[in-house]
Amino acid sequence: MSDLRIGIVGCAGRMGRMLVNQVSQTAGCQICGGTEPASSDFIGQDIMALAGLDAAGICVSDDTNSLFQQSDAVIDFTTPTVSVANAKLAAKHHTIHVIGTTGLSNSEQAEITACGNDAVIVQGANMSLGVNLLAQMTKKIAALLDDDFDIEVLEMHHHHKVDAPSGTALLLGKAAAEGRDVDHDTVADRGRDGITGARKKGDIGYAVLRGGNVVGEHTVMFAADNERIEITHKAGDRSIFARGAVRAALWAQGKPAGNYDMMDVLGLGD
Ligand code: NAD
Repeated sequence: MSDLRIGIVGCAGRMGRMLVNQVSQTAGCQICGGTEPASSDFIGQDIMALAGLDAAGICVSDDTNSLFQQSDAVIDFTTPTVSVANAKLAAKHHTIHVIGTTGLSNSEQAEITACGNDAVIVQGANMSLGVNLLAQMTKKIAALLDDDFDIEVLEMHHHHKVDAPSGTALLLGKAAAEGRDVDHDTVADRGRDGITGARKKGDIGYAVLRGGNVVGEHTVMFAADNERIEITHKAGDRSIFARGAVRAALWAQGKPAGNYDMMDVLGLGD
């Protein structure tokens, strides 16, 4: 079987460069192009060289439509509006679309989900094996405990991060809500400041820290009187997300059009 041809949108970004590296190191796939916005200083530069590898004559372009046309799969860690537009290109060209972008509104998510009618779309707010295992454990623990245990999700990221709580924190909170069989958006308490009143029983609370170059740390706490369970994941390097995203692209080959997540890719269903 010939190599899967993978394009990277946002190839000069923090994750973009990691992804170029990861594709280059992974058997069964190869980089076929990458894009940045037309205004970017990186247009025309060698994609591999930007990722710290030997130059290979593949230059950063601003033509994302052509990227989707020429690729078997496109990996996209950019911004919500860009990922929505890209999902439409994936649907148009029937290209596998792996989306790691976080901070999507409900309406943006609905637009991407609709594109799953015509393309294989794999989305993951966190592409690492460890966090997806943490989500599974969170769901199971939440199902076993009653609401005498207050659930809090704590996250810390680097100071460049623009969305809060992180997509991963929300993924974990949603896993807890699923385990408890409650509607996440009804019980989520996403920000506390000032005289908030006592904690509401059954809420799932979020706390957000930002600073330094922290790649991503998440703790789910189950706090009852006199005892507390805490489960934590610490990402040491962005390569864990890139590895998961490339694995998702390879997994998606030959799958019917539809919307998939990392639980599907990693075989971590119920
Ligand atoms: P970044 O800002 O370093 O990179 C984003 C890149 O996208 C930039 O280079 C930017 O120029 C490019 N871009 C923007 N608009 C574009 C367009 N129209 N066409 C082509 N390129 C465009 O950000 P980052 O730290 O790499 O994170 C990107 C996203 O990935 C964020 O939403 C972040 O939360 C998410 N993320 C997800 C995971 C996961 O596992 N799912 C892990 C890490 C980061």
